[in-house]
Amino acid sequence: RAKALGRNAFSFFTPALQTHYVRTLEIENALRRALELDQLSLNYQPQHELATGRLLGFEALLRWQHPELGQVSPAEFIPVAENSGLILPIGDWVIEQAMAQLGRWHAAGHTWLSMAINLSAAQFNAPDLAVQVASLLRQYQLPAGSIELELTETIAMQDPDLAVSIMQQLHQQGIRLALDDFGTGYSSLSYLKRYKLQTLKIDQSFIRYLSATNDDAAIVNVTINLAKSLGMQTLAEGVETREQLDFLRRQGCDIAQGYLLSRPLPAELATTYITSYEVFST
Ligand code: C2E
Ligand code: MG
Ligand code: MG
Ligand code: MG
Repeated sequence: RAKALGRNAFSFFTPALQTHYVRTLEIENALRRALELDQLSLNYQPQHELATGRLLGFEALLRWQHPELGQVSPAEFIPVAENSGLILPIGDWVIEQAMAQLGRWHAAGHTWLSMAINLSAAQFNAPDLAVQVASLLRQYQLPAGSIELELTETIAMQDPDLAVSIMQQLHQQGIRLALDDFGTGYSSLSYLKRYKLQTLKIDQSFIRYLSATNDDAAIVNVTINLAKSLGMQTLAEGVETREQLDFLRRQGCDIAQGYLLSRPLPAELATTYITSYEVFST
């Protein structure tokens, strides 16, 4: 394909860059048709309260199964979707699907469950986000507080004043907000105070090598206390071992999510999970 586009235009590319470019184009083209060809789906990863083990809700995570490319990781295709503008229709689909699923669980009586939904910058900055979520809340008869939108520090920092006003608008409706991957970006603490966030999600890179005595433990401890003093709850991402879970509980972390508790599950398995693991025994 690179050849067809003109050899000269690519002559300054290293082979590795060229391979990357071709792969990106391939993904973008395939992603363009992913929605209409029904190749996207959501998995749901449980989130449990650390003090009680209780299941609080799920995070919706996008999956893409393509006939030739196979299962493509969101870490690879989300950036392509963001750079091509495809994230807007795809993101709309995610919000709709996730809220429809939560609506079914609530209708089945599991009315305490919440749903966390990841947002990209373009979605967060789109003028109709609050209206869109409000109308889906009505459609699926969900309380606003059952939805938590996950933002990243990059989104929040692009235009901090605009971010604050959008957050204010969502907050007034009762929609919850979480800051994802906390600690990997560069939020300033003064903005953290202005943001209307309910949850800080401690990035899994701090959890991965967590032991009671290392630097990560100090970072996790400081983050939990910072969140507490700003009136936010903390959620630890990527909890894989019992030791991590015990440490986090001792430190006063509120919520845990990770392979130790469960991998992200397709809707049907998540539905079974709700009745089988209402409490994670610890
Ligand atoms: P994230 O929002 O920080 O999601 C957490 C990621 O960690 C997920 O990867 C999840 O499967 C993985 N994970 C959960 N527990 C563990 C664990 O114990 N160990 C390890 N090693 N990993 C764990 P996933 O599903 O591949 O998603 C990657 C990223 O793609 C997400 O990071 C999020 O930034 C983005 N993403 C996923 N779905 C969406 C979506 O619908 N919209 C947008 N805008 N971004 C999405
Ligand atoms: Mg997330
Ligand atoms: Mg994260
Ligand atoms: Mg992430």
